[in-house]
Order: sequence, then C-alpha cells, then structure tokens
Amino acid sequence: METYQNILVAVDFYEQSDEITNKALALSKMYKAKLNIIHVVDNLPMLDSGYGVESPFNMDLITELMDNAKKRIAVLAKKLQIPSDQVWLEMGSTKSEIVRVAEENKVDLIVMGSHGRHGLALLLGSTANGVLHHAKCDVLAVRLKAE
Ligand code: AMP
Repeated sequence: METYQNILVAVDFYEQSDEITNKALALSKMYKAKLNIIHVVDNLPMLDSGYGVESPFNMDLITELMDNAKKRIAVLAKKLQIPSDQVWLEMGSTKSEIVRVAEENKVDLIVMGSHGRHGLALLLGSTANGVLHHAKCDVLAVRLKAE
C-alpha cells in the first residue's frame, strides 16, 4: 500500500488548532512523511466604488497582520520541529492558497479541521468544504466538536 510522504497541515490559530496539528504530527511520524504547515492571511475586503477599487485598510495594518501571523507560525513550526522551508505563510483566498501550495509542493495529504472560526453550525466549514472539493490529493478533515 502506498503511504503518505508529504503532509500539509492547515492552521487558523483558533481554538482546537492543537488537536489538528497533533494529529498531523502523529501521522507524519507514523508514515515517516515530510510535514509542512500553512496559514493564510485572508483576502482583505476591497471597496469597488465609482472611482476605482480601493482597500479600506492601510498598508500598516496589512503589515501588522502579516508580522503577527509570521511570529505565530514560527513559534508553532519550532514546537513541531518543522524546518522553515516547509512553513508557508500566504495571503489571499484561504482555500485557493491551501490547494495551490499543496499542488505546487506535491503534497499527498492535507490535514485540516472540519471547522474553524466559522463555527460549528454547518456540517463542514466553508474552508474545509472548498479544499475538499478542489484539492487533487487526499484531505483529512479532523472532526472538531463543540467544547
Ligand atoms: P473553516 O472551514 O473555515 O471553518 O475552517 C476549517 C479548517 O480550515 C480549520 O480548522 C483550519 O484547519 C483550516 N483553515 C481555516 N482558515 C484557515 C487559514 N486562514 N489558514 C490556514 N488554514 C485555515
């Protein structure tokens, strides 16, 4: 049986993120697979006015968001002993970036939560749903329950 060689875990840093990363780490050890980690800073909303498309946010805020995300993912990567060339911090559409990074790096398993900050009201969160529909590799949606 073919086993997984290259795993990508997607983190949003909300509650229960540890449950997802711990499972991804255990799988990577079990399969002796490379473990990558990704966080995506969501697309910022754009205002499409009659005078053109503008971002209501200033560059300082965007830089601050990226800097904070960079620090948080670095701490997590260190904890999981993931080398820096396997750490992905992207900006854009979350599901598209997860799928793109997975494809470009020949990832064979994406590990993510069934739900994140978008709540437990849906059967499957919107990011998880989008990745499941578009990824070409296997996707493990770790079932997260209300605490
Ligand atoms: P959601 O479908 O948005 O409720 O989130 C489901 C899972 O998608 C989360 O548990 C994370 O594994 C992943 N995810 C959500 N947002 C992000 C993000 N901004 N960056 C990376 N992974 C994310």
